[in-house]
Amino acid sequence: MQSLSIVIPVYNEEDNIAPLVARITEGMSGWQGTLEILFVDDGSSDRTLELLKEAQTRDARFRIAHFQKNLGQTAAMAAGFRLARGETVVTIDADLQNDPMEIPRLAGMLKDWDVVCGVRTRRKDTLWKRISSRIGNGFRNWLTGDDIIDTGCTLKAYRRECLDGLERYKGMHRVLPTLIRMRGFRVTQVPVSHHLRHACVTNDGTWGRLVKGL
Ligand code: UDP
Ligand code: MG
Repeated sequence: MQSLSIVIPVYNEEDNIAPLVARITEGMSGWQGTLEILFVDDGSSDRTLELLKEAQTRDARFRIAHFQKNLGQTAAMAAGFRLARGETVVTIDADLQNDPMEIPRLAGMLKDWDVVCGVRTRRKDTLWKRISSRIGNGFRNWLTGDDIIDTGCTLKAYRRECLDGLERYKGMHRVLPTLIRMRGFRVTQVPVSHHLRHACVTNDGTWGRLVKGL
């Protein structure tokens, strides 16, 4: 039986919590193994934390970690990795740009792989974001000799041992598959769907993101 932790970084996503919770619950309804859904509230200033706590009263599988101030998506994910108890860890965005229905498929692929990276094929982002992302991915692959198409896609599945002992620094979640592969683990990529942000606004400027990535 597979034990799974779903790790979700969340920053000011108040209008997304209810639909996210509904979609995860639906997506995981056929899950046979044990499950925890770990929200890492990255110092939200809106009602995100309150709504998460409310949702937690209805579902004992929900866990909440919470930063007192906004520390960024990498820090939220790193905290999630440290706290996650499953032997499998799946990360997903809170804004429903990724589809929680795809979690079981990616988790199942860990039978044959150590890391499964989603690749957003029909990406629903602005042209500028797609261009800057292509530059970032191209530069990193050129530098490292890797072939990771889309590190910016949060929907990924990991075997726990890949995440242990990783160095942590800002923006690091973008180079995780490459770092893990450099340590000898088997990393694969699969197409996943991508949707418009459900609600609230994106938190990370694309220019800043590109510069950090480079
Ligand atoms: N996020 C976070 N801390 C931040 C910025 C974003 O935890 O400082 C979360 C956010 O709530 C979402 C995920 O990270 O679940 C991706 O953020 P966003 O959707 O803004 O990025 P994009 O999809 O535009 O890359
Ligand atoms: Mg998003």
